[in-house]
Amino acid sequence: MNAAKRETIVVKVGSSLLVGEDGQARRAWLKTLVADIAKRHQAGDKVIIVSSGSIALGARKLGLDHGGRASLADAQAAASVGQIALSSLWSELLAEHQIAAAQMLLTLDDLEDRKRYLNATATLEKLLEHRAIAVINENDSVATDEIRFGDNDRLAARVAQAAGADRVLLLSDIDGLYDRRPDVETHGQFIGIVESVDDSILAMADGSSSSGLGSGGMTSKLEAAKIANLAGIELSIISGREEHPLERYALTNVGTLFKAGDGANARKSWLGGRLTSAGTITIDAGAVAALQSGGSLLAAGIITIDGQFERSDVIEINDADGLTIARGLAEYDALDCAKIIGRRSSELEALLGYAPRSAVVHRNQMVLV
Ligand code: GLU
Repeated sequence: MNAAKRETIVVKVGSSLLVGEDGQARRAWLKTLVADIAKRHQAGDKVIIVSSGSIALGARKLGLDHGGRASLADAQAAASVGQIALSSLWSELLAEHQIAAAQMLLTLDDLEDRKRYLNATATLEKLLEHRAIAVINENDSVATDEIRFGDNDRLAARVAQAAGADRVLLLSDIDGLYDRRPDVETHGQFIGIVESVDDSILAMADGSSSSGLGSGGMTSKLEAAKIANLAGIELSIISGREEHPLERYALTNVGTLFKAGDGANARKSWLGGRLTSAGTITIDAGAVAALQSGGSLLAAGIITIDGQFERSDVIEINDADGLTIARGLAEYDALDCAKIIGRRSSELEALLGYAPRSAVVHRNQMVLV
């Protein structure tokens, strides 16, 4: 971390760090983290906290099995009980440093819908301007399976994007990425720096949370790293097992740093980080090559379409093997798109009955993934 340049940082704290095996908040440890956050804040950094723990805290209060994760209904009830305790804990500990805490509960939908995403961005900007620290969690008590992040790693990356942050610090019960799981296989090699999250990196992940308290695991951390990379944001996985984890990281630099990509423009990075889409267009090899060299998607290269998308919905663009290569905004709805599959531009007006648009997905409204 560069101490001289002031930054906007998103700090994500997982359930296994916040909540002990007895189901109680790990208050003494949390105080040391809040002291680190307050220090950065007072030095001029802008800090946003993404905090898990509501389900784990609420499960104990309600006496639910499996840490409150036996069913979605259990998790929702546990979250609504736990969230109130979680917010007051953060608020109290930040107040000890004269910092105002602000609660924001977000669903996946809030950040996937362009207007609501911009609203969240405006709120975050205002809070940062007033030097309040937002404490963000998923709105677990209303988020159903279809509209859930389910893990706060990706939520943290999306929040960082919305806030225009410089870096994300994922505090974890592991000190970074290993090429094999260190708890099940010996001789796992620690990976200190990752240039880009490619298939070889993804293969190192394991989907489950080792503590059983959170839902994260390495897979969601790597997905978060991908979102951050596309948005031009650095992300680090660091250990939160010791006290004063931020100070410790600043001193030792132990953790896995995922380098930031070039950073697309705001609309493109929002598109790149989206997790849902309204449909899929599958294209041929010629069109894949055209997209990869910066071109727009034309009707001639389409093989099939799926989904009931409307004009301006986000769709995925897949190659013939089903691999998603781009995401973009559709210029036609699915019905009109179906009429022009595989057709040349000169044929489109007669098929559609109106003057065609310049592309099915324009290159300015598309991001390669
Ligand atoms: N939102 C969940 C909670 O507060 C945590 C999700 C996660 O484990 O990342 O309990």
